[in-house]
Amino acid sequence: MKPSLQEIAATIPLTDNHCHGVIRGNIERPVFEITATESDWPEPNGMTIFDSPVGIMMRSECASLLDLPRHSSPDDYFNRRYELGQAEVSRRLVPATGISTFIVDSGFKSDNVLLPSEMQELVPGSRAFEIVRLETVAEQMAHNTTASTFIADYAAALALASKDAIGFKSIIAYRYGLDFNPARPSKSEVEVATGEWLASNEQRGKIRMDHPVLLRHILWEAVDYKRAIQFHVGYGDSDIVMHRCDPTQMTEFLRMTVDSGTSMMLLHCYPFTREAGYLAQVYPHVYLDTGASAHWTGLSSPTIVSHSVEMAPMSKVLFSSDAFGLPELYFVGTLVWRRAMGDILHKWVQSDGLGYDDAVKYLGWMANDNARRAYRLLPE
Ligand SMILES: [Zn+2]
Repeated sequence: MKPSLQEIAATIPLTDNHCHGVIRGNIERPVFEITATESDWPEPNGMTIFDSPVGIMMRSECASLLDLPRHSSPDDYFNRRYELGQAEVSRRLVPATGISTFIVDSGFKSDNVLLPSEMQELVPGSRAFEIVRLETVAEQMAHNTTASTFIADYAAALALASKDAIGFKSIIAYRYGLDFNPARPSKSEVEVATGEWLASNEQRGKIRMDHPVLLRHILWEAVDYKRAIQFHVGYGDSDIVMHRCDPTQMTEFLRMTVDSGTSMMLLHCYPFTREAGYLAQVYPHVYLDTGASAHWTGLSSPTIVSHSVEMAPMSKVLFSSDAFGLPELYFVGTLVWRRAMGDILHKWVQSDGLGYDDAVKYLGWMANDNARRAYRLLPE
């Protein structure tokens, strides 16, 4: 008797093509609550994030790994995780995800989370790769550049930062929108823009890469490397304006980069999973995943995951957790994807619309091989 697609999906090792480190050190309740949401504000009226879709899943699915009964109360769950401590909760939950390859975006709140190498240590036998966030590199060099030297300074800083990285991440969706002018800015445009950006940093007393011309410049610099570039798409915290994060807004940029040698990785995509699927079908260098969308939607995640395989070829859909900070987000993110993808493929095989061997092959592609191709990783 061959194992069912659900059984294979439950245990297949995964390449997590976009994730972040877990927070270092034990965390208090307010930090836990705010890390378990994309909101910048705590739940109002004394309510808790444990009653959100992801919180409900934590209390049902993570509870037993913390020696608690399913559906533990919010207070019981939090008190037990606090008693065990963040490090022990991470040791119990992260290896239980079955992730064998971590592709880590190290550019977000990186002072207080585990490094890619430490994530690797958390899961014996796993490997970890780094993704460099373009905007972070620019922000880190803001004090050491001028309008006339920015182009050379950024090129040198990016080369150094990405020396061991397998790709880049752009958060132009957060800092401007995906409706950016797709053209590569000229040298003189970058010079003028740098002067404006440095002045605005000074004025607001805060360094933030948000100049539309420079955001485009650093993106095109990454294109030159011919590696994968991850894009934040759709859903995110209160910095984004959702309707400007529809990936079809960057269609012209995708057209211009078809022959660039890059892979364009559309991350999260909620609620534009279908738009992303369309782009992945039409453009040979475009891929999509449902990271974050899957864990934040909890019990409703099968709908989101099913959208990812509606239109895109099976060779273009990837797995990611987009977990940040909490080991619970790793655990829930992998579990819901495994279940949803296993159920979808099982149903297709049951209906005899898809052959069993093809289904097993596609699952392997989405779990690992598509990431290996898009990021040009060597086989394990
Ligand atoms: Zn992320």
